[in-house]
Amino acid sequence: MQKTGSSLNTGGHILAKITHLPVCEKVLHEAANAAKESGSQFTALYIRSDKTDKLRKEDRECLQKYLRIADELGAEIVSLAGDEAERISEFARLCSASVIYIENSKELITRLSGLSPELKTRIVDTPKPSLRLIASELISRLSLPGAKSWWITVLALLLSSLVGLAMRSLKLSEANIITVYILGALIVAIFVRSNLCGAIYSLLSVSLFNLLFTEPRLSFHANGPNSTITFTIMFSASLITAGLANRLSAEASRNAAAARRTGIVLRANQLLQKAESTDAVISIMANHLQKLLARNIIVYPAEDSQLKKALLFPLKPGDEMRSMQTPQEEVIARLVLQSKNRAGAGTDRRGDALGLYMAVRTERSVFCIVGIQIGIEPISLAEKSIITSILGEAALAIERFQTAMEKEAMSIMAKNEKLRANLLRSISHDLRTPLTAISGNAEYLLTSLQSADDVQRRLLSNIYEDSHWLIELVENILSITRLSDGQMHMNMSEELIDEVLQEALRHTKRKSEKHRISYEASEGILLAKMDARLIMQVLFNLIDNAIKYTPEGSEIKLSTEKSGKSIVIKVADNGPGIPDEAKGRIFDMFYTGENKVADCRRSMGLGLALCRTIINLHGGEISVADNEKQGSVFSFTLPASEVNLNE
Ligand code: ADP
Repeated sequence: MQKTGSSLNTGGHILAKITHLPVCEKVLHEAANAAKESGSQFTALYIRSDKTDKLRKEDRECLQKYLRIADELGAEIVSLAGDEAERISEFARLCSASVIYIENSKELITRLSGLSPELKTRIVDTPKPSLRLIASELISRLSLPGAKSWWITVLALLLSSLVGLAMRSLKLSEANIITVYILGALIVAIFVRSNLCGAIYSLLSVSLFNLLFTEPRLSFHANGPNSTITFTIMFSASLITAGLANRLSAEASRNAAAARRTGIVLRANQLLQKAESTDAVISIMANHLQKLLARNIIVYPAEDSQLKKALLFPLKPGDEMRSMQTPQEEVIARLVLQSKNRAGAGTDRRGDALGLYMAVRTERSVFCIVGIQIGIEPISLAEKSIITSILGEAALAIERFQTAMEKEAMSIMAKNEKLRANLLRSISHDLRTPLTAISGNAEYLLTSLQSADDVQRRLLSNIYEDSHWLIELVENILSITRLSDGQMHMNMSEELIDEVLQEALRHTKRKSEKHRISYEASEGILLAKMDARLIMQVLFNLIDNAIKYTPEGSEIKLSTEKSGKSIVIKVADNGPGIPDEAKGRIFDMFYTGENKVADCRRSMGLGLALCRTIINLHGGEISVADNEKQGSVFSFTLPASEVNLNE
């Protein structure tokens, strides 16, 4: 079974049978409408058989046209080989189809109702053919074999008669001569493959036998019933032999072609699976298509929605394929890149082109556009489904590489990131102790050195502030690298929110001398399970930002409240606020926004990223909003613990 399009689903399923007959267009439209109305899956079935393989060129063109229409109507096209009724009923059972739209064929309808009584047949009537159509049909059916076939037929008759005459002179029996004529019929059937030539050969061979070998010789008179029986048997034997041989040779060539095609597809699939680069995939795909179709192939690799320089795969080595490299042809390749659907020769879009262009793609992206030089001879249905299969396999192979490459790049990035974090952590760790000593000493000198003048005090204060800022930065870096590595162990305990906030305020007191900080505790006791050190760090960062990014004298208000099962803690200021476009990004690492402080050293974009990590680890959320009149409000939640008043 050859299949194109998406896989079957298990919902409603409507089938339509594709034939070369004019009624097929109506069949397809009615089935497509029914599928659309009922929201069912729509499959167009084409059944190959001896009959369809012998279709005339015009009928084959009609068939191609109806296949195209089915494709445009959104049908999944399935091609099966064998007995019509059997294949249809098997397929309908397989995909649980309930309805099939077919032409008015009594035999098929009766057989289908016997094989699949549950499958409803919707019969679409043939549009009444006009007299002109019937006449042209009859004329075209009388298409005669070529001159070569006639010559072979005449030669076979002559040779058989000559051999017969030679046998007669050797006194061999008439039965032997009849065998020679039948052998001639076999040869005609093998080399000519025309039933008309076979029939004419049979008729003439009987006439020649009568003329040359039966008494009275050299006359067409036959002596008695004996001769009539001999002639009838000879005619029938020769006719049947010709018919059988014809059928056998057609079957053999069909099988050979199918075997060759299967071989090429299998080989292509094997090689595609082993290919080690995108270029290798493209060349395997194009070379096999060229072998299979015996046509020139052109491939346009696609990158960032642009076509790159064309790669040529000509049938004759050295052929520059100029006719396929014209701007008109390239435009069609670009059209396919945009629409992802085939275009060019044999399709409804730019059908006048020399090549048929198809995209090698997956759902996500188009990897390249393949152009097949068509010329006058169209591509057969079997070839089309094989092309689709090779292109699909190539697309999967390319996607495999790209995913592998992306994975590798990501793993290198992750490794680098880890190295960077480790380095940062070890530097920060080493800096922590001396920085604490510097800040402690500076604070001691500031409070104890009574004799220091103003300049000395300012210098000492600067040393204290800078070292304090560095300590906070180092703490943030250490926490963030440990938390993102999962190395930090959290010491969770039930804490009184009020106490944690008071403690945080005590620590920021020195910095907040030039700001008005107030704290509005909620009524009642609020308790939450937390790592107090980390939550304290969140509060330091939020208060520190409120001080850093607002002018002196600004108000900073801390508040707590209970909302459902969460405790909400807010740090609000009446500073310049945060623009809407920056609100979504300030929690990203290294984002520093537009609210720059005078000393740009002090803006690293780590504080809020750390706050978000810590709060998320506690099962809460952090967000920012505009303050009522001016400024911003940072709020975070923590899951509230039950307060047991008996404890
Ligand atoms: P840093 O303070 O080191 O820049 P943060 O992650 O703490 O890093 O802050 C990120 C950015 O958010 C800051 O650079 C600033 O632009 C903005 N920001 C933070 N808090 C406030 C605030 N209270 N008012 C105005 N802007 C703020």
